[in-house]
Amino acid sequence: MEKIGQGASGTVHTAIETATGMEVAIKQMNLSQQPKKELIINEILVMKENRHPNVVNYLDSFLVGEELWVVMEYLPGGSLTDVVTETCMDEGQIAAVCREVLQALEFLHYNHVIHRDIKSDNILLGMDGSVKLTDFGFCAQISAEHSKRTTMVGTPYWMAPEVVTRKQYGPTVDVWSLGIMAIEMIEGEPPYLNENPLRALYLIATNGKPEIKDRDKLSHVFQDFLDQCLEVQVDERASASQLLKHPFLKLARPLSSLHPLIVAAKEAAKNH
Ligand code: ATP
Repeated sequence: MEKIGQGASGTVHTAIETATGMEVAIKQMNLSQQPKKELIINEILVMKENRHPNVVNYLDSFLVGEELWVVMEYLPGGSLTDVVTETCMDEGQIAAVCREVLQALEFLHYNHVIHRDIKSDNILLGMDGSVKLTDFGFCAQISAEHSKRTTMVGTPYWMAPEVVTRKQYGPTVDVWSLGIMAIEMIEGEPPYLNENPLRALYLIATNGKPEIKDRDKLSHVFQDFLDQCLEVQVDERASASQLLKHPFLKLARPLSSLHPLIVAAKEAAKNH
């Protein structure tokens, strides 16, 4: 029906499923132009096998000539990036988003999947305030025997120190990135965004836990939540399941409180 986005690997359109009238999103990728076809297959397999209310669910895929069309749930509220860059979120709204993302992470980690690219761009919103994780192109399937990874993947500014320094890492790299995403929700962008990516990697490796401007303006429970996510010592960093019990999440407002932010972000985007 309408083009809603453009990524590195293809374009995204809305469509209507004729049988049900349901609105869906279709990502169209020209296979002959994809340098890493195995990443796309990985993305489809992981989405197909890991259905959850906080994950953008995969519906179907089709080969159309040279193109692969991947059909998924449509989230009309846009990405969390639009909200963090255009609006101010209060702690109740931030806590609600963190809880929803942690639910997705607890589920994925339980199923031995590390997402490895948690950031606001990969969180899509429904108009009712539903919060869903997408973009499984970088995820890793780990097994009991091989539960640690060493490859450096992700987006530099959100990467955990153990990824940057090429140590062995596990599922809690996603918890670190959630902490960086919480900083995006406070400040509008992750630390070091004005630095080039290589310098950012250097700063993450040397500084460890980033500084948070106006940290003392945050509630004590929020400060503690951030400290738990942004713990440099991997063994001491909390898991997604542990963080779901953190008192900060008790501050969460209903998801419908995100609706005015989504509307304001759309309005601001229109005016740019
Ligand atoms: P790539 O994964 O190819 O590097 P990308 O992650 O930048 O690209 P895509 O996943 O191709 O982006 O998505 C492009 C745009 O379409 C994004 O801005 C995203 O907000 C939007 N989009 C993607 N999937 C959906 C969906 N299911 N519902 C609504 N909007 C979507």
